[in-house]
Amino acid sequence: MSIPILMLHSIAPTGPEALSRWQMTPWRMAAHLLALAEEGYTAVTLQRVVAARDGAPLPRRPYAVTVDDGFADFACEALPVLELLDVPSTVLVTTGYVGGRAEWLAPLGAGDVPMMSTTDLAALPDHVEVGAHGHTHAMMDLLDGDRARAELATGRAVLEDVVGRPVTTVAYPHGYSTREVRRAAADLGYRTGLGVGDRLHGHADDPFALARVEVRGDMEPDDLLRHLHACGTRDPRLGRVKRSAWRVIRRGTLGRQQRHLAGVG
Ligand SMILES: [Zn+2]
Repeated sequence: MSIPILMLHSIAPTGPEALSRWQMTPWRMAAHLLALAEEGYTAVTLQRVVAARDGAPLPRRPYAVTVDDGFADFACEALPVLELLDVPSTVLVTTGYVGGRAEWLAPLGAGDVPMMSTTDLAALPDHVEVGAHGHTHAMMDLLDGDRARAELATGRAVLEDVVGRPVTTVAYPHGYSTREVRRAAADLGYRTGLGVGDRLHGHADDPFALARVEVRGDMEPDDLLRHLHACGTRDPRLGRVKRSAWRVIRRGTLGRQQRHLAGVG
């Protein structure tokens, strides 16, 4: 079965222009979710998508919602809409900035975007799964092994302490991982890893590199439906080649000091 795992970021009425690709209004998100329902899709938890890999049943057209970064607007803008429409979600939190600002976005001019606090995180209801998104939002595929492990371990430990429940999902910042990073995630107790890939998730995928579909801020509901259709016909091998090529370019052009500062992801 091919399952869209949607990747959203900031859900807010307004925000910095630099964030526009990664930001949409609550009303647009509601329009997306309603359009999916009209198309016969049913929102399920990410854990149900994972359990289905072992044969657990799913509705006819399932999809899952994930929201990256842990911006404060998740709690005050996205969650009321998700609850109104009975849509479960997974929020992936960059722990180093909890209670502060999205400082890794400063080079884009969006470093003042507020993050959820520990109080916000602890108050999230059970239908919101909390997952990790690294501690500093560094691109883990460009880090040496020890630093990548530290990003994975710290993110998990901080979140488990705050939310008081197991944290078993990690979304690699920008979607980038390597085999070594995925192995470290498994060693450290994660059970699921999320990438990007702009294709639909299939049960044959690596459980530590589930493909997600980016929902851009400028997409109308019809754009999203067309995009999902296009993602469903995409050859996964092409994505792997593109990511490998892009990693070579990032290694060469970003330089060590900028590797964790190149966008939202
Ligand atoms: Zn991110």
